[in-house]
Amino acid sequence: MTARILDGKKLSAEIRASVKEETAFLREKGIVPGLAVVLVGDDPASKVYVGQKEKGCLEAGFASFLHRLPDSTTQEELLDLIGRLNGDASVHGILVQLPLPRQIDPDTVLAAIRPEKDVDGFHPVNVGRLVAGLPACEPCTPKGILRLLKSTGIPLAGKEAVVIGRSNIVGKPVALMLLAESATVTVCHSRTKDLAEHVRRADILVAAIGKPRFVTADMVKEGAVVVDVGINRLEEGLVGDVDFGPVSEKAAWITPVPGGVGPMTIAMLLENTLEQAKKA
Ligand code: NDP
Repeated sequence: MTARILDGKKLSAEIRASVKEETAFLREKGIVPGLAVVLVGDDPASKVYVGQKEKGCLEAGFASFLHRLPDSTTQEELLDLIGRLNGDASVHGILVQLPLPRQIDPDTVLAAIRPEKDVDGFHPVNVGRLVAGLPACEPCTPKGILRLLKSTGIPLAGKEAVVIGRSNIVGKPVALMLLAESATVTVCHSRTKDLAEHVRRADILVAAIGKPRFVTADMVKEGAVVVDVGINRLEEGLVGDVDFGPVSEKAAWITPVPGGVGPMTIAMLLENTLEQAKKA
């Protein structure tokens, strides 16, 4: 079998076009969706992500408020800025780009964002709502992954889903969302025994590890849907967590890297911000 490409670039462009259309409609009523992005320090990858987010905002017709703070920023200074953004009616979404410099505790900072403005979905209230199956601001990467999976038209209920990785930003929430869709979910991590055995059962496989070409063809079931979340920067360029060439000979669907999950993350961020602007 040769896999069909699960094209995140194309799907995200469609989503961004519909966000833009809705934004134009809101703007006519005098509401401009506003996203504040806070970047502390000068981590090169973070700068790229923040640049992409700003570009996405401007293209959608949002107001983009970029706050660049020096590496020496104290936690108090950052919390002070978040307090001001929480109270600013023109800001519907607040995103603090991670990682933060060592002197700042990310959990304290994320918990300081008003849950209604937490468009990244990392606030404990939104995490709790996701666990409980209540409407929540959902984290962007997992939300984008679910949207990609649904675009295949394959029902998720009853499927064996295996997630490799249990981080708070990808693995854990994507597992919860798959569970909410009634998949049978297995979460693997660095302490999992016989990982390949688990992965071979997967009808739906989500790889969020951060290790280049970790998932090899012998680990993948014929006809599986494979979502590669990994972004690994090698000399040869960007590489995912899945050995794309050989795995695409076995899978039914596969996301490319780049052009799979990455663009969906930004589209979901815009969608989350738009939703909050509509509520406000
Ligand atoms: P983390 O480093 O936070 O988590 C990695 C997970 O993989 C951990 O749960 C870890 O297990 C597990 N893991 C590591 N090594 C192994 C191993 N040998 N066997 C099994 N499991 C292992 O990463 P993130 O979740 O933040 O990100 C994962 C990847 O996705 C990265 O490449 C990142 O760049 C990318 N990413 C892409 C995004 C996008 O928009 N496309 C957005 C966010 C991330 P343990 O918990 O036991 O340590």
